[in-house]
Amino acid sequence: MSKKVSKKKTIRKGSRKLRNQKRIMGVLLVFTIVVGLVQVQALVNDSNKIDSATYSPLVFSEPLKQTLSVLQIAKKDGDSLFNNKNKLIEFSDIKNYDEDNLDRYLAYSEAFPELLTAEVVWRVNINLDVDDYTSVITIDNPEDNLAIINKNRAVASGYVPSDLTDLEDGTFQLSKAAAKAYKLLLADIKKAELDLKVLNAYMSEQEVKLEHDEYILDKELSTNDYGLVKPGHSEHQLGLAVDVENTDEANFSESEVYFWLKNNAHRFGFIFRYEVASEISHYNNESNHLRYVGEDVAVDMYEKNIKHLEEYLDKYENR
Ligand SMILES: [Zn+2]
Repeated sequence: MSKKVSKKKTIRKGSRKLRNQKRIMGVLLVFTIVVGLVQVQALVNDSNKIDSATYSPLVFSEPLKQTLSVLQIAKKDGDSLFNNKNKLIEFSDIKNYDEDNLDRYLAYSEAFPELLTAEVVWRVNINLDVDDYTSVITIDNPEDNLAIINKNRAVASGYVPSDLTDLEDGTFQLSKAAAKAYKLLLADIKKAELDLKVLNAYMSEQEVKLEHDEYILDKELSTNDYGLVKPGHSEHQLGLAVDVENTDEANFSESEVYFWLKNNAHRFGFIFRYEVASEISHYNNESNHLRYVGEDVAVDMYEKNIKHLEEYLDKYENR
């Protein structure tokens, strides 16, 4: 009898042990799932960061992209991979890293410690760390819709676009593709019962020189004077830029025309070239200056929310 009881007890004891084990296993399983979810959440957060315009994987070099896709988890000791202070991303991890520029990256990064590594690289690559007009190169692709003119990139003296085309009454001209796009844009804005006037389009080298000479008259110029545009350094000379005006009384930047353009100009291949900070563009802010770059790039810049053509080309165009 007693033997039977003790046997039963042993069985009961055994099943209790089993239940306890199951319970522990259950708790562990829940714990694992929770930890897993937290990790997945962290991963999603970081992928979102990578996917955002500034940190698109496209800005990273191939080896880093591969590492990111293998490791996936981009966190270390609670700090983001993109935290510049910890230098988890090296300059050499960035797509268009140029070994010859390393000292300049370091100097620029020290001058602007808030900038992330990828931001330092494109800015130095396009000579934003160099004073205006101190290392000028002459561009070799002035007919290209993506040709870049700035304070250290000039179009050759004597250059005139070969396909200048009249806008309406012949007072203003743009290169052929830009003129065609402008006419389509004008027709479309009229459908919205708005109207647009051209203030300035193609400018010859001589016209830019006249404006320049007037600008420097009796003026004490400082280094990097954003208003100073020397001949060869105005993209109006490419026939790809047009300054526009609204026809009603409102200030341009508060006008309906402006808001329409902000939402629609990209569909016709135009970007606002000088709406970025002057410290970046090195030109005065000009909210009525539209630059033709073609539909693909204009739409892509709009969607990625990239305002600076040089930045876009450095990060996203293959070169
Ligand atoms: Zn302009």
